[in-house]
Amino acid sequence: MSEREPYDLLITGGTVVDPMAGRHGRADVAIAGGKVAAVGEGLSGPARRTLDASGLLVTPGLIDLHAHVYPGCTPLSIDPDPLAARSGTTTMVDCGSVGAATFAGFRRFVVEPARCRVLAFVNISVIGLVAMPECGYGRFVDSNAAYECVEANRDLVVGVKVRGSRNALGEDNTAQPVWMAVAAAGAAGAPVIMHLGDPPPALEQGLEILRPGDLVTHSYKGQPVTRLVDHQGRVKPQVRAARERGVLFDIGHGSGSFSWRVAHHLAEQGFWPDTISTDVHTSSIKAPISVDMPNAMTKMLHLGMDLEAVIHASTGAPARAIGWAGRIGSLQPGMAGDVAVLAMEEGDFPLTDSYRQAEHAGRRLVARHTICAGQLL
Ligand SMILES: [Zn+2]
Repeated sequence: MSEREPYDLLITGGTVVDPMAGRHGRADVAIAGGKVAAVGEGLSGPARRTLDASGLLVTPGLIDLHAHVYPGCTPLSIDPDPLAARSGTTTMVDCGSVGAATFAGFRRFVVEPARCRVLAFVNISVIGLVAMPECGYGRFVDSNAAYECVEANRDLVVGVKVRGSRNALGEDNTAQPVWMAVAAAGAAGAPVIMHLGDPPPALEQGLEILRPGDLVTHSYKGQPVTRLVDHQGRVKPQVRAARERGVLFDIGHGSGSFSWRVAHHLAEQGFWPDTISTDVHTSSIKAPISVDMPNAMTKMLHLGMDLEAVIHASTGAPARAIGWAGRIGSLQPGMAGDVAVLAMEEGDFPLTDSYRQAEHAGRRLVARHTICAGQLL
């Protein structure tokens, strides 16, 4: 028998659900040197540490592609690590808190000290969300600055964020920032993530500007003119056309963007989100909304989305959307040792949407362990 270095971590006896790898079944996961070393049944040690995951789900680390994690610089932001550790979220993608002018501080004061992985969509406004309306002053909206920020920070920046809504625009009521975000991202070969809000620009106008691979966030918004469904609850034809063209629809739950009513309409028509994200910030993280990745995933299960699809939309799909597939979002050997160990609890759980409506679910997902690059958070 050959001698080998012990694994750093061996997670045994769980049900591995890794849609990107086509795996759903009992397996052990071994991690060494911060990466997945092996996945399979009955892996034997030695290991420096063993976690018993019997009765639990073992998935790739969850990827939240809409978070706000630049505390001290933007008023809505939260500290990423405590949330990551209790929510199975190994990658937090900040969604526009940071702009080109504030990026160096983000790298130094947020990304470098964090134990979880922190990436970013850089705001088309150079000030990010330091103050709003961030796009209200022409000089703050700068496609060249956003482009250069992507180019100079490819290790962290995954695309460009624009809030396509009136409260981002101030007096300059045009769709111009959306065009400029697409121009910057297009030049850099990266996606745009566009926030849906009160017009201008109108939903249809914003969707038309987006290219295949770009994302719409806040897809479950309840406001009458912004929602994805018409007055009879039918998915709008422009929304279907955008999806057919390859535009991706993200949740971005937040404290003003997830409506049970809209969610049921979308679910009845089989219109599921491409990616599940939280829009977690100082308000949405608080009770009764209390959003985090397991909470948003539980809401999709409650609506009838299949477990494997929910996990895919929280792992492999966001990894692909941000250009990180092959590095995170799956547990194949050689990929980052990012793992979520989740429990499916049974009981009576109230789930509150952004409009303070609660529905009751009979089961919920909760995180038991969060492992990022092989380190237990
Ligand atoms: Zn947001």
